[in-house]
Amino acid sequence: MLSGVGDAADLTSFGIEACHHLPGVGKNLRDHVGVYLTYRVDQATYNTEAGLFKSALHGANWLLRGRGPGTAPGAQAMVFMRSDPSLRDPDLQLHFTPVGYKLTPDELIVLKDPVVTAIPNVSRPESCGHLTLRNGSFRDPPRIFARLLDAESDVRALIAGCKYIRRIFAAPPLARHVIEELAPGKPEMTDADWEEFLRRESVTVFHPVGTCKMGADPTAVVDSTLRVHGIENLRVVDASIMPHLVSGNTNAPTMMIGERGADLILSGEGRKE
Ligand SMILES: Cc1cc2nc3c(=O)[nH]c(=O)nc-3n(C[C@H](O)[C@H](O)[C@H](O)COP(=O)(O)OP(=O)(O)OC[C@H]3O[C@@H](n4cnc5c(N)ncnc54)[C@H](O)[C@@H]3O)c2cc1C
Repeated sequence: MLSGVGDAADLTSFGIEACHHLPGVGKNLRDHVGVYLTYRVDQATYNTEAGLFKSALHGANWLLRGRGPGTAPGAQAMVFMRSDPSLRDPDLQLHFTPVGYKLTPDELIVLKDPVVTAIPNVSRPESCGHLTLRNGSFRDPPRIFARLLDAESDVRALIAGCKYIRRIFAAPPLARHVIEELAPGKPEMTDADWEEFLRRESVTVFHPVGTCKMGADPTAVVDSTLRVHGIENLRVVDASIMPHLVSGNTNAPTMMIGERGADLILSGEGRKE
């Protein structure tokens, strides 16, 4: 956008001369929206193992013996599930992590008590945001309109995910370790309560894609060889070219896009001489 590729009217309003009108740039922002359900438990979690001494101990245990909590990834269990059994594919991903924190608009506060967190997220969200420049300066960050819960279907799916997590935590293997639910923390929740909780607490799961989507329609930014429509020898090779979100985490698919992009560039496919 700063180089003049984007919606011409928008660019002009920021004092940038449009060198190529491509209205889809910055549109179609998709992200996995999730919410944290947290439980105080009677077992050690990363919260209780985070001090300097224990971190050093666990680090040494991992380094020298290949054992202990240092060997495990942050998210230790995943579930892909259908919010409605009639769906063909799973539409929800549940993440489980043995640590609890509170997110505020300004910071991430790691809780002191032993806490575990379960996060449902909508795998194929209908909600769609966009981003724009803030002004014509490269020094200032863009304005991001995430619109994570725009679509009612995403709210309904996420409520189903929250309810399912409660069922898992109420089942004996976990229930016997749960001392209390911290968030949402209200035992009887109506769907309206859940929606209020989601609209207050929902967050990104850090998988934004789509703002330079691949395709052939007027809002597409790159073609099937990752070339920017209407501009010779310019490609976009990153997560932003995904037209829709993949169901799971985005790192591996992005690496595949990178590998494919490298092949396309090296082979010269689609290049204009
Ligand atoms: C906190 C967090 C946790 C995540 N956890 C996971 C996970 O557990 N599993 C998973 O699969 N995915 C995870 N993701 C998502 C994953 O990291 C991204 O999908 C992936 O990195 C996207 O790759 P990308 O190349 O599109 O963008 P990026 O990896 O963001 O790369 C963009 C690069 O461009 C550089 N750059 C930016 N501006 C300029 C400029 N003007 N000039 C030159 N260079 C510039 C940046 O420095 C950066 O190196 C996570 C993301 C975040 C933020």
